[in-house]
Amino acid sequence: MKLTFHGAAGEVTGSSHIVTINGKNILLDCGLFQGKRKEAFEKNRHFLVDPKTIDVMLLSHAHMDHSGNVPTLVKHGFKGKIFCTDATADLCKIMLHDCARIQVHDIEFVNKKRARAGKNLFEPLYTPEDATNAIEHLFPQPYSKPFKIFDNVEVTFHDAGHIIGSAFTEINYSENGTTKKLMFTGDIGRRDIPILKDPVLIKDIDYLITESTYGDRTHPAAADAKAELKKVVDMICETKGKIIIPAFSVGRTQYLVYLLNQLYTEGQIRPIPIYVDSPLSSAATQVYSKHKECWDTGAVEFLINGQKPFNADNLHYTDSVQESMALNAMNGPMIIISASGMCEAGRILHHLQNNIDDPKNIVLIVGYMAENTLGRRIAEHRREVKIFGNYVYVRSKVVEIAALSAHADENEMLEYFNGCGASHIEHAFCVHGEKNALEHFSQSLLKAGMKNTHIPTPGQIFEL
Ligand SMILES: [Zn+2]
Ligand SMILES: [Zn+2]
Repeated sequence: MKLTFHGAAGEVTGSSHIVTINGKNILLDCGLFQGKRKEAFEKNRHFLVDPKTIDVMLLSHAHMDHSGNVPTLVKHGFKGKIFCTDATADLCKIMLHDCARIQVHDIEFVNKKRARAGKNLFEPLYTPEDATNAIEHLFPQPYSKPFKIFDNVEVTFHDAGHIIGSAFTEINYSENGTTKKLMFTGDIGRRDIPILKDPVLIKDIDYLITESTYGDRTHPAAADAKAELKKVVDMICETKGKIIIPAFSVGRTQYLVYLLNQLYTEGQIRPIPIYVDSPLSSAATQVYSKHKECWDTGAVEFLINGQKPFNADNLHYTDSVQESMALNAMNGPMIIISASGMCEAGRILHHLQNNIDDPKNIVLIVGYMAENTLGRRIAEHRREVKIFGNYVYVRSKVVEIAALSAHADENEMLEYFNGCGASHIEHAFCVHGEKNALEHFSQSLLKAGMKNTHIPTPGQIFEL
């Protein structure tokens, strides 16, 4: 067995690794690299191996840093099947199209500048048509049911508790007479986050590829999120301002909606209007509503008691640009949940531009912000940030609720792997993290009893 690390190696985004078993190449994820425009442009366009040589792909979940470059893969000649869960397939159908539209729009902007400078023009990374072609390769599989991808290679997806449809990938294979188990975590969820079930333990792992996003950090307990959210809503009722929440369309948006809905139902907060202002977030919420097989008992009980987790009288899903723009003229108190999660594109930019310089307002940070993103600069409490090319003063409050994270922190990941039997693991590969997190987490895994740990670099190959 051979492991080749491509993306999210020594960094967070662009998840992509190749497992070669009995001469067959299995691609784990094909995510978008997100960061500086120029670097992203290069990395997303150039694969380290020829996509035609990949036989099968296994997709852990629908977040763009895991699935976002699938259309490029197909465009460059990948012909195989892409296995994922049902909910992941449904999410990809909407998310890849959305991403394609952003790609086309982005490149138009770049090309306008280049045309003026007399430079050659670029093609978009992929188009909506490429996204449609990619979606045809998706083959949904249920959780916990093994399926064979080649002779002597069997795969099982298990609930990872990170976003709806997110999976741990278990690969059982035999090669030259020995049988081994490889686990790829994708992103590891947390126990007790709203809506989703807890991450499923996998026993007897020999080789592990694990995310390390918060490998050097501790989050407040997931259960604290609700009380913190109540505090922020109470604050905005005082100032009569707006809470602007940049939130990933998938996962974070639905947690927020559900928690706010619970707080209203329990009479803990005033029913101020909430606007989910992102067509993608609205569409993703429908996928959350549909896939009740992924819900935890709390969400099911909420439904049984006659409440819908994602619907309420004061909750509005805005669709058109006009509706979105109308929010500017409205008076608070109100809550606007918009995307993109790291403030790199989408309607959130307009809301930040219109509201970030007003001390009445609150920008609420609820998720991971990658380096070199606008979201990161806001989370770092910079006095001034650049939005649409212009500097704007940050006068609104910036509040962070880390308890809403959908990623397990260091202790939660260690607890998870102890439950799996850490001392059984011969080799663990730490990916999907910034330098400090990777180094710290790799040491922690050794202390937890794993025999060898590695921090692969892009293009690095391990023969096991
Ligand atoms: Zn994720
Ligand atoms: Zn990720």
